[in-house]
Amino acid sequence: NPLVAGTSEPDERVLEAALRPKNLHDFVGQQRVREQLSLVLEAARIRERTSDHVLLSGPPGLGKTTLAMIVAAEMNAPLRISSGPAIQHAGDLAAILSSLAEGEVLFLDEIHRMSRPAEEMLYMAMEDFRVDIVVGKGAGATAIPLELPPFTLVGATTRAGLLPGPLRDRFGFTGHLEFYSISELELVLRRSAMLMDLKVNSAGFTEIASRSRGTPRIANRLLRRVRDWALVHRNEHIDATLASRALDMYEVDARGLDRLDRSVLHALCTKFGGGPVGLSTLAIAVGEETETVETVAEPFLVREGLLGRTPRGRIAMPDAWIHLGLTPPEDMPL
Ligand code: ADP
Repeated sequence: NPLVAGTSEPDERVLEAALRPKNLHDFVGQQRVREQLSLVLEAARIRERTSDHVLLSGPPGLGKTTLAMIVAAEMNAPLRISSGPAIQHAGDLAAILSSLAEGEVLFLDEIHRMSRPAEEMLYMAMEDFRVDIVVGKGAGATAIPLELPPFTLVGATTRAGLLPGPLRDRFGFTGHLEFYSISELELVLRRSAMLMDLKVNSAGFTEIASRSRGTPRIANRLLRRVRDWALVHRNEHIDATLASRALDMYEVDARGLDRLDRSVLHALCTKFGGGPVGLSTLAIAVGEETETVETVAEPFLVREGLLGRTPRGRIAMPDAWIHLGLTPPEDMPL
């Protein structure tokens, strides 16, 4: 068991993989998506066909990869994993597609970051299970059609809006993953703690869950940090006090904001007077990629009512000033 100490210490990736639920039943929360997906898969099984292509959208760490693995498991099909950034040429995609087995599930993470020519090849592959391989250059170039075995594409993107319309339209089913509630995160943590053989009381679970940014991956990561703290301090029983001490040390605040979240809010309030300011300007101010700020930090800050999106740019909400211990400007509409 890679999760219990004593065996050779696994790295974090191994731990993360071991904590992944293997079927829809163990997959916590996202009830709507789970029900819809289960229907799509059941119908495919009855028709004895491959399932429709599935698009999953939502911030990182909410379970897109896990769901892709579950789709393959439920369809009893092999799974191939790749990602948009790894597919820079149409040829890269052709190589993957032409080696798929019949019924295989192809998971493409960050599908919005695929190159344009690869994307165009994917349209045809998704629709007709066929690609045109172009041989030669210029006037002498010829397209050789290649039949593909039927497969199911599971695409993942941090925002469905980043995808061009023609690609979005070719998915038979789109599931939007939402941030998890604290009680759902407690369930994720309970399951992980059991697998990791940790003793955590229910106040301890609540403390970790409320600092997890609505995200299972973060919940599991914080649980491991709390476990480390408990281990070093020779404390076998994890409660709320221990969890909050450990997490304060890792700069995760009581509301779950991490360093990037706080620096975005801090820049917004102190450098731009609370906004409105354009997203890319804000990203430069915190030294991050625009896409990271937009897809990683912003959705959570908006949900928490700390940041607002307006046509003129991003603004700090009154709560943001209060949370950072700053005084909001006098004319701030409350
Ligand atoms: P994404 O692909 O959206 O970035 P992942 O599927 O890799 O997210 O999930 C990250 C981690 O969070 C996984 O290791 C998994 O253990 C955990 N996880 C995600 N969603 C759930 C869920 N609904 N129930 C239990 N654990 C989950």
